Amino acid sequence: MPSLYTTETEHALEAVIRAATLCQQVQREMVSSAAVQKADRSPVTVADYASQAVICRGLADAFPGDPVVAEETAESLRQPDQAPMLAQVTNYVRTCLPGAVPAEICAWIDHGGAEPGPRFWTLDPIDGTKGFLRGEQYAVALALVVNAQVQLGALACPNLPLDLSQPNAARGVVFLAVRDQGAKMYPLDGGPARSIAVSSPTAPQATRFVESFEAGHTNHAGHSSLVHALGITQPSLRLDSQAKYGVVARGDAAIYLRLPSPRTPEYRERIWDHAAGALIVEEAGGRVTDALGTDLDFSRGRQLSQNRGIVVSNGFLHSVILDEIQNRGLT
Ligand code: AMP
Ligand code: MG
Repeated sequence: MPSLYTTETEHALEAVIRAATLCQQVQREMVSSAAVQKADRSPVTVADYASQAVICRGLADAFPGDPVVAEETAESLRQPDQAPMLAQVTNYVRTCLPGAVPAEICAWIDHGGAEPGPRFWTLDPIDGTKGFLRGEQYAVALALVVNAQVQLGALACPNLPLDLSQPNAARGVVFLAVRDQGAKMYPLDGGPARSIAVSSPTAPQATRFVESFEAGHTNHAGHSSLVHALGITQPSLRLDSQAKYGVVARGDAAIYLRLPSPRTPEYRERIWDHAAGALIVEEAGGRVTDALGTDLDFSRGRQLSQNRGIVVSNGFLHSVILDEIQNRGLT
């Protein structure tokens, strides 16, 4: 069977690598100084806008008919009091698109304001903004959805170690999956791809689980009681962003739990926070559902409005986890 989505894959890979490199540059130049003033979110705002501008511009050129459903809009960036921010965004965008002018950068960002259609891209220009500001995990996540199914997912994780057991080893990973073609990962700064697969039930990693770093995004206490009931005693690995999907997909952990935070029971997950990561785990042999065991439904607009919470696993423990969630009333 000929490979599908070859052109889309090349573009998506190049786009996330380009944007991730830009984010790394912003982080190097702006985050350490901003750490002094913890409340200063401007570095992540600059990187978010620049990343979305560069990726949307590339998608608009290559696939002019495809809507892009992205997290940011340029509405506030166009306000006169945001001129210094727009100037910073422009400087960073020019490192990959020399000569870009502010008005067109705003238009590229707003290219991401489309509504989902039968075929669309969904983009999180920086997933894990809090991790980015802490100098920890974040990701650039891009996915192509066709007829409500994710067909392609590209996820760049600039701060993720290539080998999690060697945290001081090289960092920067790109995960890529195309439906029915498996999942792989690349070093962000170049080098060959390698195929990835979820952990086996007997691997030592089969008792490791990951969850959000941010307590407000999830239910840490609920996760802890749930995994104890499954006999898992080691503490969770807390990571920001869809790096969690990548870690499960390459077998470094067996489970990623995202039960709804008791503080925000009405929160609905955004499609760009899950589309790329979910396909990467599925293509690596794992399973992704919501907390009720329902498949993620990408046909409902910008949110996963029909889903509650997210459960990701290497597959082996999936139904046991879902049963335990029901028994404990954790949805
Ligand atoms: P993570 O880094 O996995 O904790 O997820 C980051 C994402 O969480 C952000 O991109 C937000 O879209 C999303 N988010 C924000 N508030 C909530 C919430 N109350 N519950 C779940 N996710 C949230
Ligand atoms: Mg996000």
